[in-house]
Amino acid sequence: MLSVAEALQLVLSRAKPKPPVDCPVDAALAAVLAEDIASDVDSPPHDKSLVDGYAVRAADLAAGLAELEILEEVTAGAVPTQTVRRGTTTRVMTGAPIPHGADAVVMIEHSHVVESTSLGRVQIRAKQTAAGQNIMRRAASMARGQMALRAGCELRAVEMGVLAEVGRTHVSVVGRPTLSVLPTGNELVPSDQAPGAGQIRNSNGPLLVAAAQTAGAVAASLGIARDDHEQLRQLIGRGLKSDVLVISGGVSAGVLDLVPEVLAELGIEQVFHKVNLKPGKPLWFGVLPGGGLENASGASGDKLVFGLPGNPVSSLVCFELFVRPAVGVLAGRGDTSLGEVAAELAIAHVHRGDRPTFHPARLVSAEGRMLIEPLRWQGSGDLRTLVEANALACFPAGDREYRAGETIRALRLPRPW
Ligand code: AMP
Ligand code: MG
Repeated sequence: MLSVAEALQLVLSRAKPKPPVDCPVDAALAAVLAEDIASDVDSPPHDKSLVDGYAVRAADLAAGLAELEILEEVTAGAVPTQTVRRGTTTRVMTGAPIPHGADAVVMIEHSHVVESTSLGRVQIRAKQTAAGQNIMRRAASMARGQMALRAGCELRAVEMGVLAEVGRTHVSVVGRPTLSVLPTGNELVPSDQAPGAGQIRNSNGPLLVAAAQTAGAVAASLGIARDDHEQLRQLIGRGLKSDVLVISGGVSAGVLDLVPEVLAELGIEQVFHKVNLKPGKPLWFGVLPGGGLENASGASGDKLVFGLPGNPVSSLVCFELFVRPAVGVLAGRGDTSLGEVAAELAIAHVHRGDRPTFHPARLVSAEGRMLIEPLRWQGSGDLRTLVEANALACFPAGDREYRAGETIRALRLPRPW
């Protein structure tokens, strides 16, 4: 059986970034930039004051004390009209352009107006006033024509600010992958219905749609498919319009686990079925070759099809280990696999099982140490316990009693997720 690492490599080898699209910046948050962005302005556009104070000639304050004539007051957005000469000063507010002749700004806290007729005179007490003090030089942050953002960067709040600063209203970004979720099972009812005998609510649909959204996909559910050949064929066919199709349930060895055979009939090439992990062993992965749009390099991306085992925690663990990184690649973010940390067990733990196990756990940092507490968990049908988890504790195959204080590997669950 394939290891988790081998299976992930197979998944990633079939995932390619989506072609670039033009996007209004206010819809581009979290997308990945597909072009280099140069500044169309000097920033700041002029030498500017960093404080409220007095623009002076530093030489006038060589003695640490001076009384100067105030020429004018310049607030941010206004333009100085006078040159600061020996014995004079201009009152400037934060962001105001520095007047000609001045080479430093003294903070208003170091001044004292001595005559209040018209603008008057001001006494300034400031030792060691150096040229350049409290001034940000024109283009110090970036010069016109200079690279402001590079292709490949993720657009966070700060990049939104920089795009505004350089006057961009549209940008080229890596297209957002589309993802369809198809929950399957005769036992499923929608969450607005009370389950009858033998029935349960469809929790995987909303769970996987939400997880896919946090991974950067535009995700939607196709509705519940019954364990019925014809209906599966029809809904899977619809799901293949998306870049990624995530099916939950129907991939194990039960009599109504029809998903693999329907996928084969529809021409989906199976890449693997079953991975050596717990929970999630029956995971199925395949591709519809060349089914996607052409990307920047002219290569045609494959459509990716995941069949996740139906137990909610199996579905979620498989999503985090395999689907999230694949969506990351399609969205231009690269491999977005969960971050791995080493942590000390906070409590003793008994592991039993012949497969590498991902056990819901709580990771905390205490006095500079990472501690991990495997949660009391009832297995892959117990989604509720995952509400308290922020990590998956990794236990290798084989029965073993772990002592408190032993170091193990853990994967951090994404925030938000
Ligand atoms: P399956 O993989 O189809 O054999 O399903 C395994 C288990 O997961 C069964 O107990 C199902 O009832 C449960 N299950 C399957 N699909 C869902 C779903 N959409 N929401 C919640 N539980 C599910
Ligand atoms: Mg089923």
